[in-house]
Amino acid sequence: MTRKALITGVTGQDGAYLSQLLLSKGYEVHGLVRRSSHSEVNDHRLQWLGVHNDIQYHDGNLIDLSGLIRVLREVKPDEVYNLAAQSFVKASWQQPLLTSDVTAKGVGNILEAVRLETPEARFYQASSSEMYGLIQEPMQSEATPFYPRSPYAVAKLYGHWLTVNYRESFGLHASSGILFNHESPLRGLEFVTRKVTDAAARIKLGQAKELPMGNLDATRDWGHARDYVAAMWAMLQQDEADDYVVATGRTIAVRELCRVAFAAVDLNYEDYVRLDERFMRPAEVDVLLGDSSKAERKLGWKAETTFEQLISEMVEADLVRRRRAAA
Ligand code: GDP
Repeated sequence: MTRKALITGVTGQDGAYLSQLLLSKGYEVHGLVRRSSHSEVNDHRLQWLGVHNDIQYHDGNLIDLSGLIRVLREVKPDEVYNLAAQSFVKASWQQPLLTSDVTAKGVGNILEAVRLETPEARFYQASSSEMYGLIQEPMQSEATPFYPRSPYAVAKLYGHWLTVNYRESFGLHASSGILFNHESPLRGLEFVTRKVTDAAARIKLGQAKELPMGNLDATRDWGHARDYVAAMWAMLQQDEADDYVVATGRTIAVRELCRVAFAAVDLNYEDYVRLDERFMRPAEVDVLLGDSSKAERKLGWKAETTFEQLISEMVEADLVRRRRAAA
């Protein structure tokens, strides 16, 4: 029997890589999409990976429980991956309540829908290293206490604990992946890695002159999204549901990201980067560094792509896109 997966957030970065992975494993892939009256499915990421025609799309929204129930009743998935969210930390200060409706309460809606319609389905919740915020230990593992520092992180914490609670209360096979920052050529332009690799490409091609940036001293544990979706899948193949940190175990400053991205096009970042208050945050997460030894032990998962490989792949992709757009 063909296994069926439903992915919320299928048009996002992780949704695209996860679709590609599941299709390669022979799954029937269904995606939940937020469609508006005037627009087609925004499937440019799925197109980039060449899988946009292989997915069955369903209209729906995490804030609409009855719609979720309808889709689950139709699809009857074996696995549900909840990747949809208002996922940009900075925007969560401008729209804290929208963020909690989608990123927190939305998890409640999809868990309820699964509990009511497909309680045998295995469930994955996209939790986030942002939940560690003001870090309580130098390396963060599943046992590290959380201290969220943004409305986004507060919302993700609700989703994380609700997932744990549905596992413990109702016996759902519900796992939470605490993923550290993961990037790729499909990352949105508002996130710092893609902002920097795209700017390096534009400056190299003479399409921009400088790059306004926020806090260059923050450090993150950055991996490749393609590697990280494999950990999501592996979690749902375990006999027991559980929570796992997914990270590289290496933390790198935003300043170093700038240096590496500009060096990839033979430029010195110091000649182009300028500080701009608009990109500073009301409360910052200074350092994140993940300990994913449990994932390695139990899932046999390890990050494959180095930071340098990741950034060079992203710069290359942005050069291609920016050249194409200018032609
Ligand atoms: P986050 O870890 O989910 O918030 O991922 P981001 O990629 O949005 O930000 C990572 C870090 O880069 C944060 O500490 C930001 O404060 C820092 N940063 C510095 N300048 C910028 C910028 O111009 N844009 C963004 N998005 N982040 C920046």
